[in-house]
Amino acid sequence: MKLKVHSYESMGTYDGPGLRLVVFLQGCPFKCLYCANPDTMTFEGGTETSSGEILKMALNQKPFFGKKGGVTFSGGEPTAQAEALVPLVKELQENGINVCIDTNGGIWNSHVEELFGLADLVLLDVKQFDPRKHIVLTGRPNTQTLETARWLEEHGRPFWLRYVLVPGISDAEEDIRALCRHFSGYRMIRRVEILPYHTLGISKYESLGMEYSLKDVPLNTGEQLERAKSIFDEYFGCAVLN
Ligand code: SF4
Repeated sequence: MKLKVHSYESMGTYDGPGLRLVVFLQGCPFKCLYCANPDTMTFEGGTETSSGEILKMALNQKPFFGKKGGVTFSGGEPTAQAEALVPLVKELQENGINVCIDTNGGIWNSHVEELFGLADLVLLDVKQFDPRKHIVLTGRPNTQTLETARWLEEHGRPFWLRYVLVPGISDAEEDIRALCRHFSGYRMIRRVEILPYHTLGISKYESLGMEYSLKDVPLNTGEQLERAKSIFDEYFGCAVLN
C-alpha cells in the first residue's frame, strides 16, 4: 500500500527526541482553527509514495539520527493511514530506526491500535480538555483522544502530552487544571510539552483562499507561557516550553 505524503523535513528537532526525519502525511479529520498546515487537512492531493521510498530515505539519513533520533510520522493525521503505516514502521524498526507518531488521537480502529502498539513513542496532542471548547476549536469531540491516552497508559506505551497554548482559546487556568488533574496519575507520560501559539501558517490560508478565523488572536506573552508552565509543573514536575 502506498502512503499519501504531503512533505518531509530532514533534521527536525521539534517532533520527538534527537534529530529526525519528519514525514508529514496528507489528510486530517480535525479542522483546528490554528492549524499551521491547512493544506494537509484535505484527504485530496499529497504524493503517493511507496513505503520502500520512505525506508530508503530513512536509511540514508540514519547516520544523523544518533542514539535518540529516528523517524516521526506527522501530518495531517498519520493514523488516518495506519493500515499502510504498520508494515513500514515494522521495517524501520527492524532496521534499528526509532519511530514516533505525532497524533491528535482522534481516530481508532484495529490498524491504529496495532500502530500505537508498535510506536516507540507517541506524541499526543490534546487540543482542549473542555469537550465543548474542543469541538469549537477542532470541529470534533475530544472523547477518542482521551480514550487513546487511556489505551496508551493501560498498555504501557510511552507518550508525550502536547498542548498548544492559544490566548483566549486554550489558556484558561480552569481548563489547564482540569487537563492536569485528569492526567496526573498517568505513569506513561514521558514529557509534557507546551507549544506556543504561532501564526506561521497564515499565508497558507490566504493562498488557499481560506479564512484564518484567529487573525485577531495575539501571540502568547512570555508571562502567559510561564504561568501555564507553572500550572503544568505543579502536576507533572517539569513541563517543557517548546
Ligand atoms: S490535528 Fe493537526 S493537522 Fe489536523 S487540523 Fe489540527 S493542527 Fe491541523
